[in-house]
Amino acid sequence: MPPSLRAPRGTRDLLPDEQAAFARLERIARDLAARYGYHEMETPLFEQAAVFERGIGAATDVVEKELFRVTPSRGEEREAWALRPEATAGICRAYVEHGMQTWPQPVKVTVTGPMFRYDRPQAGRYRQFWQWDIEAIGDPGPAVDAEVVELAARFYRDAGLADVELILNSIGDPACRPAYLADLVAHYRANEARLPELERRRLETNPLRLLDSKDPAMAEVNAGAPRITDRLCPACAEHFAAVRAHLDAMGVAYHLEPGLVRGLDYYTRTAFEFYRRGAEGQQQALGGGGRYDGLIQLLGGKPTPGIGFALGLDRVVLALASAGATRPTAAAPVAVVVGADPGDTQGRLRIATELRGAGLPVRADLAVRKLGRQLEAAVREGAQFAVILGDELVAGEVQLRDLDGGSQKAVPLADLPALLRRKVRG
Ligand code: AMP
Repeated sequence: MPPSLRAPRGTRDLLPDEQAAFARLERIARDLAARYGYHEMETPLFEQAAVFERGIGAATDVVEKELFRVTPSRGEEREAWALRPEATAGICRAYVEHGMQTWPQPVKVTVTGPMFRYDRPQAGRYRQFWQWDIEAIGDPGPAVDAEVVELAARFYRDAGLADVELILNSIGDPACRPAYLADLVAHYRANEARLPELERRRLETNPLRLLDSKDPAMAEVNAGAPRITDRLCPACAEHFAAVRAHLDAMGVAYHLEPGLVRGLDYYTRTAFEFYRRGAEGQQQALGGGGRYDGLIQLLGGKPTPGIGFALGLDRVVLALASAGATRPTAAAPVAVVVGADPGDTQGRLRIATELRGAGLPVRADLAVRKLGRQLEAAVREGAQFAVILGDELVAGEVQLRDLDGGSQKAVPLADLPALLRRKVRG
């Protein structure tokens, strides 16, 4: 293969040790999801582009700039597809398609997997990245909002990240947001001369986005902007107060941030994000979520409330590394089957096959080489034991060497599975 072939920009290979860090996070996520009553499901990695255009909003960065469009090069189907940039829209499309409104509500589901955004790659920003997503569809809240937020906060704790801050806001609903947006637009129009070009354009299409602009020139204009939390209608204000009261009751700490609007159109009321303390505003949210009471209807279903989150696993892996956490490594076998007769690969493979059949992770040394070299390789690999085949094999015995401690003893082959099973590292 010519050396110029490489993984596409913004993607990377997760080599076994890095994959072990991801697998650990996925295990924590799966365990939490099950404990909190979320059921695993999958959605396709690509959907009709309309699922995202409608469900996320055509005037969002995710759709306008970052959608990874897929066009088949031939065939009958000329549909416009796109790789999924997030999981919520696809899950809600599935909710409508499969009539999940007839299931007991809320429907609580979870998806873990790769997402795709055609963004400019940089540290912590990839074109293919991994999210853990959970959604509770069919419950208007506010208690479920707090339950979802607490679950996300627990994930970071369980993952071993202690310095994660929760930012919370309410962005109102169709009853109160239009009047607020009118005020917001009036504020920006009055300051139009101070707006950078990009923000001026956004003012026409998605004025809420100006509030979480990362452009330093916007800080002053935004400081004087009207706050959504001062304009919530009574129902949204009551909902927001109740979410906070439920979080307080569980002892979940949060920081109120009226400028937090999230990039996606479909959010209503509760919005939240997680940052490493001191890293706010660096476009490096570890995760976020919110309520989306209008989304199911946008996708053709009956009006149905929902809330969920998406946590970026890549960024958690990076944060753990920069916090100096010990990295998990790819699992080593409990034992390597080696032999005194360099050529007897058949014998080694046969014993290894028996042990694997008994459920044990073992490797057979299949190289034709001296016992010493086979043992060296087993030590380097981090195996706990070497099963050494020698003359005792005719009597149904092998030598079992403890590669950590160095002790060695003869063991009947029949006892080997039970003996090794007790030694498999948890
Ligand atoms: P969002 O739906 O944009 O709020 O994304 C949810 C989470 O996914 C973010 O908080 C990030 O942790 C992660 N994320 C989003 N986009 C990327 C990306 N391009 N690369 C890596 N992680 C991302």
